[in-house]
Amino acid sequence: MARTAPPETWGHSTVRTACPLDCPDSCTLDITVEQGRIQKIDGGDENPVTRNFICAKVRRFAERVYGDDRVLYPAVRKGPKGQGTFTRVPWDEALDLIAARMSEIKTRHGGEAILPFYYGGSNGLLTQNTNDAELWRRFGTSRLATTVCAAPTGAANLALYGKMPGVVYQDYPHAKLIVLWGVNPSASGIHLIPYVKEAQANGAALVVIDPRTTSLAKKADLHLAVRPGSDLPVALALHRFLFEEGHADAAFLDGHTHGADRLRAAAAPWTIDRAAQEAEIDAADLRRFAELYARSSPALVRCGWGLERNRNGGSAAAAVLALPSVGGKFGVRGGGFSMSNSLAFGLKAAQWIDTPEPATRLVNMNHLGRALTTYTNPPVQMLFVYNCNPLATMPDQNRVLEGLQRDDLFTVVFEQVFTDTARYADVVLPATTFLEQYDIAKGYGPITLQLVRPVIEPCGEARTNAQVFSAIAERLGVGREEEEIDTLLRITARMGKAGADLMQAGSAAPPHDGTPIQFVDVFPLTPDRKVNLFPEEIAGDAPAGLYGYQPDPATGRFPLALISPATEKTISSTLGELRERAAMLHIHPADAAPRGIAQSDAVRVFNQLGELHCPANLTPDIRRGTVAFSKGVWRKNTYNGSTSNALAPDSLTDLGAGACFNDARVQVALLGRH
Ligand code: SF4
Repeated sequence: MARTAPPETWGHSTVRTACPLDCPDSCTLDITVEQGRIQKIDGGDENPVTRNFICAKVRRFAERVYGDDRVLYPAVRKGPKGQGTFTRVPWDEALDLIAARMSEIKTRHGGEAILPFYYGGSNGLLTQNTNDAELWRRFGTSRLATTVCAAPTGAANLALYGKMPGVVYQDYPHAKLIVLWGVNPSASGIHLIPYVKEAQANGAALVVIDPRTTSLAKKADLHLAVRPGSDLPVALALHRFLFEEGHADAAFLDGHTHGADRLRAAAAPWTIDRAAQEAEIDAADLRRFAELYARSSPALVRCGWGLERNRNGGSAAAAVLALPSVGGKFGVRGGGFSMSNSLAFGLKAAQWIDTPEPATRLVNMNHLGRALTTYTNPPVQMLFVYNCNPLATMPDQNRVLEGLQRDDLFTVVFEQVFTDTARYADVVLPATTFLEQYDIAKGYGPITLQLVRPVIEPCGEARTNAQVFSAIAERLGVGREEEEIDTLLRITARMGKAGADLMQAGSAAPPHDGTPIQFVDVFPLTPDRKVNLFPEEIAGDAPAGLYGYQPDPATGRFPLALISPATEKTISSTLGELRERAAMLHIHPADAAPRGIAQSDAVRVFNQLGELHCPANLTPDIRRGTVAFSKGVWRKNTYNGSTSNALAPDSLTDLGAGACFNDARVQVALLGRH
């Protein structure tokens, strides 16, 4: 039967692009546009793991693009800080004002009094570490250590393996054992799930290590609901078992590693019983896990970012990543570890940033509150925020708030929507979303590199990062204004074949067909291509030494561990403006009952740093002694304008100077009846 072509609709098209948001999957997107307006956002197939479906978060991204919270014009503050009242001004006036304040502050206090503040709000290669980095370096501002996430795991992976690429999603069905350690793909990285299910259908065993009974934990053969911060002793107990009970791969350790004896010595005190006691899990379950790991091949550990968010996070990641070396799990498809594949294309921003990094003050982003309220040499006089909503995402929220309220602090927020932080700005600049600009999306789960194309015209007067930072640089006499397309061409020209592929085909051919086997196709990127199981260069950083355990910080007053895991609703805090109802504290019924708390009651969660008021959700899906409140919640979604970050200390992880969100120890009390 002859097919009839669909009628031509003027102004209708489907545009292919990619998702650059901070998620491992880096989906290919097919976007339906009608008369210049987004109608539908769906998955494509260029990235093989997207398989034509995407998460619910990005399916509703048009609500951000066209929503009431969108920043459409440059504006300056007209009321008190935090009130969120602004007056529209022309772009030139806003940029002139910013440049004038930067010059004035540099003259009076030095360039280090200016603090750029950014993270992975739009995680593409063009929106960060391009023209912005040239501006900050040339002007001599303070530097930012971007450590809120992935710093401890990154430090461990770099020191042990030089960030060797890991097992990709497509190879999971080959595994006979999959361990999901501190990761919940149902909330972040959903495209892993079909591959895990396929592996299970092929007979693979699944072990989930998570304080919560996540949906995958319910389908696992074994679920270890460890106490937050105790992943290190659990991993060391596995090492001890492998070494002491004859399961260590001596040939692999001799041929491919350094430091096995020191790792063995560090693991020696951690018997199964002792580790199980510390983690508050059943010792028989931990033994079963150790036996399963020892005898399974291919065995695969997916090391997530949940296990790093505490005082022992770096050592825990190192111990988990060391398991396949000690257990001899490499060299087969579906065996080894998965962490971040962000370096699989060998691309680093140093290839396209021309200005050397100056030796100016380095500010750890986890210390933003301290920096704004206590730094004196020089004091922070200007904060320039982009790709980031620190009032919703940084620890010690009350101190961040105190800093943002300072009358003598000049704050610029360059954003897509009026975030919690934007309300405290002196100048707000409208930023394009990834649907209104070019960018380069790099997967760190699958090994992919894709061109992000503008799908619609910029909304209102929104501009790209490339354009705005170069425009400020020109005003300050340290650069030339550049159109975004010129930045894109300049940067892809520095990427070699990958850049040429991107510009010609919209995606780059991945090395090893995107499915490398560890120790067959890829090897450690360390200087001697060996695994360093006890890297001296980081061992001295850890307060208790590498693999040294720092005990739980709970006290009699604050006995409950508070965690803040990622959810299906936001990507970190991105899209938080769309949440309507109050976020809930998840608490086990056995912890709620003695406190007189019933379902949906208002509760007060508190410690020495602050308090959070919200409704309670009683659920057996969180372990006893631990409570959870979603990551990335905005202040409007609690009863008192504080989130779990108001209770999170700004202490740092043992390696990588990362954030210790999950070291918050709290008490919970009834505030009011539902
Ligand atoms: S956030 Fe992740 S799952 Fe969702 S569209 Fe982007 S890459 Fe895909």
